[in-house]
Amino acid sequence: MTTVLQGRDLATSIRSRVADGATALRASGTTPKVAIVVATDEESTLAYVRSLVGAAESTGIEANVVVLASDSGPGDVRAALRAVGGDPSIHGVLLQTPLPVGVRASEVSLEIPATKDVDGANPLSLGRLSSGLPAFAPATARAVIELLREHGIALAGRAVTVVGRSTVVGKPLAQLLLEADATVTVCHSKTPDLAAVTRAADVVVAAAGRAHLLGRDHIGKGSVVIDVGTNFTAEGPMVGDVDAEALDGHAAAVSPVPGGVGPVTTAVLLQNVVTAAGGGSPPG
Ligand code: NAP
Repeated sequence: MTTVLQGRDLATSIRSRVADGATALRASGTTPKVAIVVATDEESTLAYVRSLVGAAESTGIEANVVVLASDSGPGDVRAALRAVGGDPSIHGVLLQTPLPVGVRASEVSLEIPATKDVDGANPLSLGRLSSGLPAFAPATARAVIELLREHGIALAGRAVTVVGRSTVVGKPLAQLLLEADATVTVCHSKTPDLAAVTRAADVVVAAAGRAHLLGRDHIGKGSVVIDVGTNFTAEGPMVGDVDAEALDGHAAAVSPVPGGVGPVTTAVLLQNVVTAAGGGSPPG
């Protein structure tokens, strides 16, 4: 029997705590506020931003979307981030990807002040995280840890393999897993025998962005699998990086796509805004 590691209930309980936090902040005269800087015409991204605004407002967080032209240059994006970063009424700053050609997220994100970097986009936040200093981690990486914790899956001393080494998911997640005393292996597209590495792990986190990359051959019997992937194929609805059906009765537990990491990510993002608005230290 394979357990499904649902994220929706956890997301609901985090959002309820966020709403309580936002109410308390408002009562003391502070309206928690997030700015989202967007520089794309891509409809799927704009729809995602609209859903994020709705999620923020439903928990009492104000959201201010700054829309830039889709052919903006690095200077335009930096200026927008500097403006919202310097606005004392704004507590959290998000830079939405994709960005225009020629704009590198890691470069322009240096404009986001550490105390407002609620999605851990500024490279200095990853540096602080790696050095054990308080910093906001990217919400997706933190969401993976929260999902594992919620379902009582121990990490200390266990072998965890992360598939993917992006600065948004794989690398910060590896840091958080090390902080949790896991023994961490990170794989990527040049890893020669991916299945051999993932099969040896107690916990596998898939964050490659490749539909159904991991099947039964990749997972050891009784292991736990967290699927971060969100892939859109011509054939149908969104699918993860893991072929969950193939793991049924083989893995101990698998997180679903959709409904696993995704909703927890949004909830963690909102939680970070309320933490920033309260002047609290990011989790360290
Ligand atoms: P990314 O920047 O494209 O990075 C993908 C990583 O996977 C890279 O390190 C790449 O290796 C590795 N990779 C690609 N193909 C591989 C293969 N065949 N074998 C082993 N490794 C492989 O993607 P990302 O931004 O990290 O996102 C990863 C996935 O998570 C995407 O599906 C994305 O949509 C999803 N995501 C979900 C959430 C959520 O909240 N649920 C949030 C963010 C992202 P190289 O470095 O060698 O190229």
